[in-house]
Amino acid sequence: MTYDFEAHVLTEDSASEAQEVVETLLKKMFLFMDGRFQSHRVDFRPLGEARLKIATLPSLWNSSEAAHEAVLRDLGQYIATQLLRSEPVTFVFFHFDGDSKWSERLASGINAPRFESRVRTRIRNFVRGILSKRGEEDRLEQVMKRLRPLVPYYCVESWTYQNLDRARALCEQHCGEHADLLDKWGHDRASVDEVEQPWAALCLGKLHNLDLAGAGFPAGEAYGAGASYWAAVESLQECDQLLERIRATWDRDYSAG
Ligand SMILES: [Zn+2]
Repeated sequence: MTYDFEAHVLTEDSASEAQEVVETLLKKMFLFMDGRFQSHRVDFRPLGEARLKIATLPSLWNSSEAAHEAVLRDLGQYIATQLLRSEPVTFVFFHFDGDSKWSERLASGINAPRFESRVRTRIRNFVRGILSKRGEEDRLEQVMKRLRPLVPYYCVESWTYQNLDRARALCEQHCGEHADLLDKWGHDRASVDEVEQPWAALCLGKLHNLDLAGAGFPAGEAYGAGASYWAAVESLQECDQLLERIRATWDRDYSAG
C-alpha cells in the first residue's frame, strides 16, 4: 500500500505508551483540521532507531553539554534524513512539554526556544549540507517546515485531561473525589494549562493518557480553550505541505494533481 505521507512521532516522554498517546492526539488534531482525514492513509511511525531514544529524553534533547554531543548529532542526522525523504513525503513531529504554565510561557518557558536554537539549528545544518551537495539548497525552508514541534503546557496531561467526560468516569473508579475540580476545568478549559504538574492534581496521574486521548476526545472544546492545544493546531495549520497531504488522504484527484 502506498501512503499519502509518513508521520514520524517522537516524544521526550519515556512511558511505555507515550508514543501511542502522542500519535493518537495527533490523529485527532488532523481530523479536527480536516473532517474527512483518513488516518489509515498515513504511515505513523515511532523513532526508528532505539539507540537514539536516549537523545529525545527531557534532560538530553536540549542539552548543550559536550558529553551529549555525539548522540544528539546522531539524532539530528536521523531526523534530517527522514525530513529529506520524498516518497512518501515525511513529517517529523517532536513532542516535548512546555514545563511552564501557558500564561507564563514567554517569561519562563525555556523548552520551546531551546528547541528552535539547538535542535532545529542542528537539523537544519545537516539538511543544508545534504541539499547543497545535490545543488538543491533552495529547498531548505520547504524541507525544514516538515519538522513540527508539539508542545503542551504544562505537559501532555494538560491535553489528555481535556477529555473531561472520560476523566470523570475514571475518577469515579479511582476515588470519586475530583468531581468539583473536573467541573471547574469544564467551565474554564484553559485553566488546565495553568496547573503545574497536573498529574499530581488528579487521581488519574499518568495512568490513563491513552484512554483519555482516544474515544470521545473533545478536540473542538480543547481547541476552543485558546491555550496550548489551540496553539499546537494553529501551528500545524501553518504548514501548507501538511494540509495538502492531509487532504490527499481523502481526495484522490487532489493527490494526483
Ligand atoms: Zn479522583
